[in-house]
Amino acid sequence: MPALNDLRQSMIETGQSSRTEDCPFCGEVGTLSVSVAIGANNHMRAQCSKCGEGFIE
Ligand SMILES: [Zn+2]
Repeated sequence: MPALNDLRQSMIETGQSSRTEDCPFCGEVGTLSVSVAIGANNHMRAQCSKCGEGFIE
């Protein structure tokens, strides 16, 4: 998902380790919790509080 890679990049650049986004799985607004392990390995984790979908990469 290229949009999520852009999101990760912007979070790394701004030092923002977590934020809430619209869910790309169910389309719900603001339910996807995204966190990035900035300074560790920059892995990104996301999970939707509505549909429960998520990913780690
Ligand atoms: Zn969802």
